[in-house]
Amino acid sequence: MSPQDQLNRLRREMDELNREMLDLLSRRGELAVEIGKVKRLQGVERYDPVREREMLDFIAAENRGPFETPRLQHLFKEMFKASAELQGEDRDKTLLVSRKRQAEDTVVTLGGATIGNGRPQLIAGPCAVESFEQVNAVAEKLALSGVKIMRGGAYKPRTSPYDFQGLGFDGLKLLKQAADRHDLRVISEIMTPGAIDSALPYVDIIQVGARNMQNFDLLKEVGKTDKPVLLKRGLSATIEEFIYAAEYIMASGNHQIILCERGIRTYERATRNTLDITAVPILKQETHLPVMVDVTHSTGRRDLLLPAAKAALAVGADGVMVEMHPNPAIALSDAQQQLDFDQFDEFVNGLTTQFPQLDLVK
Ligand code: PEP
Ligand code: MN
Repeated sequence: MSPQDQLNRLRREMDELNREMLDLLSRRGELAVEIGKVKRLQGVERYDPVREREMLDFIAAENRGPFETPRLQHLFKEMFKASAELQGEDRDKTLLVSRKRQAEDTVVTLGGATIGNGRPQLIAGPCAVESFEQVNAVAEKLALSGVKIMRGGAYKPRTSPYDFQGLGFDGLKLLKQAADRHDLRVISEIMTPGAIDSALPYVDIIQVGARNMQNFDLLKEVGKTDKPVLLKRGLSATIEEFIYAAEYIMASGNHQIILCERGIRTYERATRNTLDITAVPILKQETHLPVMVDVTHSTGRRDLLLPAAKAALAVGADGVMVEMHPNPAIALSDAQQQLDFDQFDEFVNGLTTQFPQLDLVK
């Protein structure tokens, strides 16, 4: 027999073995489903680690090579996992925020504004609340532009302890007062669990900032409120960590969560952070939550706000957050990247030209 004929013969034998193994695997899967049903009838825990250990020991005892035992056990464990999934066990392990758990999009509703219903929202306002005159001027401008949700930081997480730390609770009151005058909803960052209760009457959305994405106590506490939460991605958080952070909130009972990509730390210094634009479609695929993009903190550059916002909406973001200020040059924080009112008009016009579905009050 020529070597080629011999190879062909061995390969045919391999194909035959594959067929038999496939048949055995299918039969094993069917049996697992049957076992699952019987166990359910008995009200028994479906996952049985003792039984799994017995099967793995059996493999170790009966292994006659040539595969090494750990390798074989690994293959069998994969099979056990697949069987558990067939028995419906994976559902118990699937995250609440996961798309596998809930196929339909979560839609976050505030009185008068909706996030995640297919019409992107624009959230705008100053980096920080500085005075009533300032936020009132902003609120007036936003209302004229058709924006429904105003941002403004009262509690500011600043890198340096010597920088303006925000007006705190007084700032929240000023923000709410200005927003009410112009029929706007309010979003503001809360940094500590202790500040939540007093803030609730003043905010329509609680913002959890990038620096607090893994402040698990804060996540649990905002999860106990009935206010929507906008959760920002941590400065160096992976998408998986971001999703788990959202899970903390949902596991505490609050399902009204908005994810916000705000740029991550990379070696690149041309922008303040690197906008991870593909995080948007990934998060939309992996979770059922609305996803927004903060173009200000991700780019840190005024000239990039419009292109970044267009990119965000093009990849399916449910909205964009941008900072604007009556006089950015004298802003107490983020002076270099906030838009003045004329620039804000240009931004809104540029965005609506390409994305007329933007949810602005006409
Ligand atoms: C902010 O939005 O005010 C802010 C501080 O952003 P981040 O937490 O994303 O840095
Ligand atoms: Mn800012």
